[in-house]
Amino acid sequence: MTISLTNHQLLIDGNDVEALDGRRFQRHSPAHDEPVGEYPDGAVPEVDRAVDAARRAFEHGPWPRMAGAERARLLRSVADLIKRDAEALALVEVLESGKPISQARAELQAVSELWWYAATLAQHAHGDAYNALGEDYLAVSVREPMGVVAMIIPWNFPLLIASQKLPFALAVGCTAVLKPSELTSGTALMLGSLTREAGIPDGVVNVITGTANLGSHLVDHRGVDMVSFTGSTEVGRAVMKGASQTLKKVSLELGGKNPMVVMADADLEAAADAAVFAIYFNQGECCNSASRLLVEESVAPELEARIVELTKAVTVGDPLDEQTLVGAIAHDDQLDKIIRLVGEGTAAGASLATGGKRLPTRRGRFFEPTVFTGVDTHMNIAQAEIFGPVLSVLRFDGLDEAVEITNSTDFGLSAGIWTRDVSTSNQFARRARAGTVWVNCWMDGFPEVCFGGMNQSGMGRELGRHAIEEYTEAKSIVTHAGERTMWIGSEKT
Ligand code: NAD
Repeated sequence: MTISLTNHQLLIDGNDVEALDGRRFQRHSPAHDEPVGEYPDGAVPEVDRAVDAARRAFEHGPWPRMAGAERARLLRSVADLIKRDAEALALVEVLESGKPISQARAELQAVSELWWYAATLAQHAHGDAYNALGEDYLAVSVREPMGVVAMIIPWNFPLLIASQKLPFALAVGCTAVLKPSELTSGTALMLGSLTREAGIPDGVVNVITGTANLGSHLVDHRGVDMVSFTGSTEVGRAVMKGASQTLKKVSLELGGKNPMVVMADADLEAAADAAVFAIYFNQGECCNSASRLLVEESVAPELEARIVELTKAVTVGDPLDEQTLVGAIAHDDQLDKIIRLVGEGTAAGASLATGGKRLPTRRGRFFEPTVFTGVDTHMNIAQAEIFGPVLSVLRFDGLDEAVEITNSTDFGLSAGIWTRDVSTSNQFARRARAGTVWVNCWMDGFPEVCFGGMNQSGMGRELGRHAIEEYTEAKSIVTHAGERTMWIGSEKT
C-alpha cells in the first residue's frame, strides 16, 4: 500500500468536470501529512449545474419511470462494482479519514451489502387501496419519489453514510446530488463513477466537492425537494432553519452521547471488551460511540480496572498497518476539541485513569485512548459529544438511576445494556430515549433494521423499509366509477 495523490473530478450529468473557475483543493492524510487527494473546488455554479442535472433527470429522464425491477438490477451492479474496487476504495478512505485499513475493508463489505439490500426496496415501494368507500368509489394511495434529494455527508464514515442514503433514494426513483465532507471527498466521487459504469442514467447521481459552503447552497436551492443530512447537531440546526425558507423535507442524523449500561449480573469480561471497542472504534469519531459507560456500583472497581487494562492494550498508530486498532484523528480542529474537553474533565474533578494526551509522533495527529472515572452526569465530559477516544465512566445504583442518567443529555441516538436478566433489559430498552438500544452487543447493525435518533440526535429513519417512507411521499388517487350525482339541477332536500 503506497501513499499517493489521487486526482478527482466532479460528476455532473454523467460527465467528469472541473469547477467553472478551474480552482482545486487538496486533502492531506491526517496520519502521514502528505497530499492524498485533489478535487475541484466547487461553488454556487457547481451547485446549480448539479441540481439542474438532477432536476432534468427526475422530470424528463427514464429513472423515476422505469420498472422497479430494472432499477434493482442496476443497483445490484453497483454493489458488484463496489466489491470489485473494494481495495482501492478502502485505501482512499484510510488516507483521507485516518481510520485503520482493517476497519475500512470491513466497511467496504458493509457498503456493498447496503446497495444490494436497497435494491430489494425498488420492488417494494407500494401504497394502499381503499375499497370500502361505497360501490362507486375506489381510492388508492401511491408512494411517489420525493424528487431531487441533496445528501450532505460527514467525514467519519464517508462511503458508509453515503450508502445509507444514496441507494435507498435511488431505489424508489429519486435523483440525487451528493456532497461529501471537504475532508473526505475521494470515495464519494469514485462511487459516483461506479454508478455511471453500472449504467445508471446521466444526471441521476451527481457528486460535487468544494471548500466553500456548498451544503448551505444546496439547502437553500429551490430545485432541491429534500435534504438528507448527516453531521453535527449544530449544523443540523442550521440545515433545518435554512430548509424552512422553502419548506423542504429534511431528515437529520446527528450527534450522540451514547450510554452503555453494565448491570452487576452481566458477563463482565464481554462487557469490558465491548466497552473498549465501543469507544475506540473509528478513534471514537463515531456518532454511535459509547462515550458514557454507566456501571452498577457493586462491580464498578472490578470493571473499571479491567477497562483501563484493556485500554492500554489498544494499538494506536499508522492506519495502513494491519495491526492498528486506532488510527489518526481526522483534523486539527477535532484534535483541539478533544484536548480542550479532556482538560475540562480534569478541571471538573474527574479522575484521569489512563491516557489524556496527544501522542508524540513524528507526523500525523494521534491521541491516547483515554478513560475518565469518577465522572458526574453534570460534568461537560458526560454531556458533550467529544468525538474522540475518550471514555467517561459514571456509577449508578439500580436500574432507575441508570435510566435517569441515560436520558439526562440532549441527545438520543443509541443506548445499550449488559445484563443476563431479560426483564431488566426489556425495561431498559422501553425506557431509554434512544433510536437504537443494543442488548448484550454494541453497534451491531443490519441494512434491514432502521436507524436514527431521538431528541437532538435527529429526525427521520434510514435503512430498512422505513427508507421507502423517507424518500417517497403519498399521493391519493380517488376514482368514481358509477353515474354522477349532479350538483346543478339535482333536487335538494
Ligand atoms: P459537520 O456537521 O461539521 O459537517 C457535516 C457536513 O455538513 C459536511 O459535508 C459539511 O461540509 C456540511 N456543512 C457544514 N456546514 C454546513 C451548513 N451550514 N449547511 C449545510 N451543510 C453544511 O459534521 P462533521 O464534523 O463532518 O461530522 C461529525 C458529526 O457528524 C458528529 O457530530 C457526529 O455525531 C455526526 N454523525 C452523525 C451520524 C448519524 O448517523 N447520526 C453519523 C455520523 C456522524
